[in-house]
Formats: sequence, structure tokens, C-alpha cells
Amino acid sequence: MSGVEFATYPSGLRLAGRRVVVVGAGQVAQRRIPALIAAGADVYVVSPQVTPAIEGLIGAGEVEWADRGFRDDDLDGAWYVIAATDDHGVNESVSRGAESRRIFCVRADDATAATAWTPAVGRHAGVTVAVLGNRDPRRSAGVRDEILEGLREGTITARHHRDRSPGVVLVGGGPGDPELMSVAGRKALMEADVVVADRLAPRELLGELPADVELIDVAKLPRGRSAQQEEINRIIVERARAGQRVVRFKGGDNFVFGRGFEEVLACREAGVPVTVVPGLTSPIAVPAVAGIPVTHRGVAHAFTVLSGHLPPEHPDSLVNWKAVAGLDGTILLMMAVENAAAIADALVAGGRPAATPVAVVCDGTMPGERTVLSTLGGLQADLASAQVRPPAIIVVGDVVAIAHPGHYA
Ligand code: SAH
Repeated sequence: MSGVEFATYPSGLRLAGRRVVVVGAGQVAQRRIPALIAAGADVYVVSPQVTPAIEGLIGAGEVEWADRGFRDDDLDGAWYVIAATDDHGVNESVSRGAESRRIFCVRADDATAATAWTPAVGRHAGVTVAVLGNRDPRRSAGVRDEILEGLREGTITARHHRDRSPGVVLVGGGPGDPELMSVAGRKALMEADVVVADRLAPRELLGELPADVELIDVAKLPRGRSAQQEEINRIIVERARAGQRVVRFKGGDNFVFGRGFEEVLACREAGVPVTVVPGLTSPIAVPAVAGIPVTHRGVAHAFTVLSGHLPPEHPDSLVNWKAVAGLDGTILLMMAVENAAAIADALVAGGRPAATPVAVVCDGTMPGERTVLSTLGGLQADLASAQVRPPAIIVVGDVVAIAHPGHYA
């Protein structure tokens, strides 16, 4: 043998109906035998003692047992051998006997003396994962575990085993940080044929999509807002009808100011299957990541989430700001940067004190995240001097002072 260390040559053995000899019946053998049985091997155990678990397998007729020490002729007719005694000399003679018969032999005591190594194995959805960690079993088990986790979560795409049934999945991507997207959402993304993505969806994740996934960027669709929504409805229905799996990918949760249910209705009307994967919605998740709770015992026992995209006096506004001002608890404003000053005035006019603490969290959970602290009375001036731009969540109420006691002391 030369000093060069060659790579191993991995192979999947099909052992059904073939004799596998296991010499020794302690902990190592006990861990190996179930997989051999699962492979349909004709398992022959040679050992004067056996563990209770192996004894159970013998009793159940799942393995055959030679109740004695190893003899060279135990290897007759074997296709594969596992030398798993705690006696180096015995393992050596098993090795030698296997070598002369050209049978591959695993060694529990000395991997370098073995002609075969046992990988760390796991299975998911019809795929077998086997990892050989260059004689470092902890490492191979760790790599195997990560691969299995990736398969389960959909970050590793077993594209041939994915759900290929046509239809639309509405996926909420969370507030921006890709880490904050759900396992189910990631899996749906990885299974998609087409992804129809919004401006606020966690865009980093789009870079991870398999190369054959088509990306339709809604931010780039021409025409005004309502025509755009009709166009989106048309695209998702048409693609699903053509047999594709469509993911409608949005920031936060699709049903929170996301027009998600219009898309659900469009699909239902067209007879296209549609499912929903909720996302962490920004009015709750963004303050949380910025260290502001939306409720706090003894301070706020309710919170109200509102769209501020229309100014309070606008005829189409569906919000009764006077009533909102009269509610107890935290107010969370979305799409409200433009109309923040007018909304603050309406809340003060409705009875909230001008000194009510306000936090404006911009680009929440994203690299440029920042929080501007203010009050209802000072909001207009503070937003202007801080040059706040959307997207932002405006948090109104005493929870802001709980989170930033120094600022409001
Ligand atoms: N469906 C989304 C909201 C869409 S409306 C959700 O559930 O979160 C768009 C508004 O959401 C923005 O104007 C802003 O108020 C808020 N928003 C979304 N992502 C945000 C973020 N990362 N930081 C701050 N505000 C955000």
C-alpha cells in the first residue's frame, strides 16, 4: 500500500435477500443492524453475547444468530461484513477472511483497516442522504442533519420531489429580513414555477431561487395602481391555468393592506386552487424588532392597526379618527408618512394628549433600520428634520415611553 490516501467511492448497496455478516453484537452492531433489516438484508449475527435489543430481533426472527465466537467459514456466502467486536484481534481475523473472499468489510475499531465505511444516513421524501465525513463521524452526522433540515424547510430544493400541482400560493414574506420568513413560505418559494413579487417583499430571497424559476416583478408593471391589480389577478390565474405553480410573494402578510383577498377571490372565480401562507406583519414585527412592544401589562391592553394612506378629511377615508383617538391602547399607523402631521392633529383633536409618545420605525428589520422618537405634538417637525421616508411604522402610545424611558423622562 502506498502512503497516498485515495478518496472513497460511494455506492448504494442493494442488499435485499443477500447475506450480511455482523460479527459482534454490542452497541455498534445494535446501531447498524436496523438499517440492514430495512434494506432487506439476510442478517447473520455471530457473537457469544448479544444486547437485549439484538436479542429481541433474534427472538422476532429478524436476524439469524450464531451463539459463539467468530469462525472463518462464517463468511461463506456473504456479500458484506461488519466487524463490530471490541476485540481488535477478532476484528483483524474478520478483515483478513473478508479480504481473501473479496467481501467489503466495515471495521468498528479501525477505519483505516476497513475496506468500506458507513456513512451518516437520513431520508426525506424518497431521497437518501449519505455523508462520509472523512472518518469524523460527528462532522458527517452534523452535515447530514443540516441537509435533512434544508430538505424539510425547502432551502435545499429536491426539485424532482416538489409539489408540482398547479395553483396559486399567497406567501407573506415578513417585514424584510429574510430570516423572518416562515419555513412554509420558503418551501413554497422553492417549489414555484413562477414568482410574482412585490416591491416590499424580502428581495434577497429572490436571488436564491433556482435558475429555472420565472420572476415577475410587479413593481415594474406599467399603468396605475388599480389597473396593476387587475393585471396581477390576470397573470396569476392565467399561469395557474397553464399548469404552473405560482407564488404571489409580498412583504409582511398578504391580507394586511396587501390586497391578498382580491387575489383569492379572482382565483376562486376562475376555479384555480389557491392557498395562503401567512407572514409576520410589519405593524407588529417591525416595532418588536426595534424593541417596542405593542402591548404591555398595565400600559396598553389593546392595539389598533390603521392605514394612513388617506388624510383624515379625505372623503374616501373609512377611518373615524375621532373614535380612534378615543380608544385605549397603542395606535399603529401604516402607509402614513405622508399624512402623519394631519393624522397627529386629528388624534390630538380627538383627545389624545400632544405629549403622547410616538416612535417612527423606518426600514424595519432591514440594514438601514432607524427609529425616530417624537410626540404627537412634535411629529411634523421631527419627521421633516429626520427626513423620514416610507416604509415606516408609526407607533403612538405609552408603550414607546416604556421602551425608551430616558427619552421621555
Ligand atoms: N402587507 C404588509 C403591509 C403592506 S402596506 C404587511 O403586512 O406588513 C405597506 C406599509 O407597510 C408601509 O407603508 C409601511 O407602513 C409598512 N411596512 C412594511 N414593511 C415595513 C418595514 N420593513 N419597515 C417599516 N414599515 C414597513
